[in-house]
Amino acid sequence: MKKGFIWQIVGAFVLAIIVGLIFGDKTTYIQPLGDFFLRLIKFIIVPLILSTIIVGVTNAGDIKRLGRLGGKTISYYLITSFIAISIGLIAGFTFSPGSGMDLQVSETAVEPSETDGVVQTILNIIPLNPIEALASANVLQIIFFALFTGIGIKLVGEKAATVQQFFDGFAEVMYKITGVIMKLVPIGIFGLLAPVVGEYGLTVLLPLIKLILALIVACIVHVAVVYSVAVKSLGKMNPLLFFKGIFPAAAVAFSTCSSSGTLPITMKNTEDNLGVSKETSSFILPLGATINMDGTAIYQGITVVFVAQYFGINLSFTQILTVALIGTLASIGAAGVPGAGLIMLTMTLAVVNLPLEGIALVAGVDRILDMFRTSVNIIGDASASVVIEESERKRVVGEAASA
Ligand code: ASP
Repeated sequence: MKKGFIWQIVGAFVLAIIVGLIFGDKTTYIQPLGDFFLRLIKFIIVPLILSTIIVGVTNAGDIKRLGRLGGKTISYYLITSFIAISIGLIAGFTFSPGSGMDLQVSETAVEPSETDGVVQTILNIIPLNPIEALASANVLQIIFFALFTGIGIKLVGEKAATVQQFFDGFAEVMYKITGVIMKLVPIGIFGLLAPVVGEYGLTVLLPLIKLILALIVACIVHVAVVYSVAVKSLGKMNPLLFFKGIFPAAAVAFSTCSSSGTLPITMKNTEDNLGVSKETSSFILPLGATINMDGTAIYQGITVVFVAQYFGINLSFTQILTVALIGTLASIGAAGVPGAGLIMLTMTLAVVNLPLEGIALVAGVDRILDMFRTSVNIIGDASASVVIEESERKRVVGEAASA
């Protein structure tokens, strides 16, 4: 990655803050610039996931390897999400962001979010109609369809060679387009961030500053400790190189608040800067952008403690344990779009019988919290791809040695 590119991104951040602070509300005029970039990265997502996963499967060697990859990926995602929510809970109790606050809670009634139940959620992964899945950008269903198409191509063999070649070429075209869009990242960051800075004055942020700071500290701890250790010890990569390599995607996640929207950039960064093969990243990253949300898990932990403290409710040990489990599930269930974590928070609060009005408390600054948690979400996905790439590489070397 060119050094100048990182500085362009940093420059975009600084400029967005300056312009936002100077022009305040008027920065909404810049919003179309941000939307222009957002639409550009979003339009590539569906064809990119479809083609890269198919190519990933057809190039992945045997089907057993796929199962192994899936098992490792899901284990890594579950373990790190559980650690994340624990860090969130600890940060909540350490910083006590909700004690002694006199913020007014609005009277708006909040309904707990409806969920389908575990069995139905799993069944929903199988698309009834793959074209509909593609048209509605249902990532889990697309992953399912692409995996099976890839497996089908392998099973058919010779006769499906042209189909395989088609997707090979198609995936290359999608990568190329992503590379072109990448160049616009600094412009996109400026266009997305300046209006947010302009909209949120200090008066909005100050009353909840303790909550915001607690979340930032927890995110930094999780990234600096958990990912550094994982990347270094399991991924055999210098953590500093890892963070530098994933920085553009983290910056895009920060400004878009969408892991799914950032996916093309995350894929490009992990392949170009972190040396992860397409076979590994094409499977791990789309799955991660949909189900692995460590930042969202941290946020669930902290905000539940915050709401309990605000209403003067002491959480029992069982309630805390329930939050850890339900919060992890909520982070898995949250879609990779802005504000999804806030919707899932209603579920976590409802399960432990905390007042749902707590949502209204957090909602005012949720966009700011979303920026940090989304960045953590995609860094977590990238760390998984580095760790799993290394373990697969070792296995291949081991198998070659014993052959
Ligand atoms: N915005 C987050 C993401 O896309 C999800 C959330 O709201 O927590 O990763």
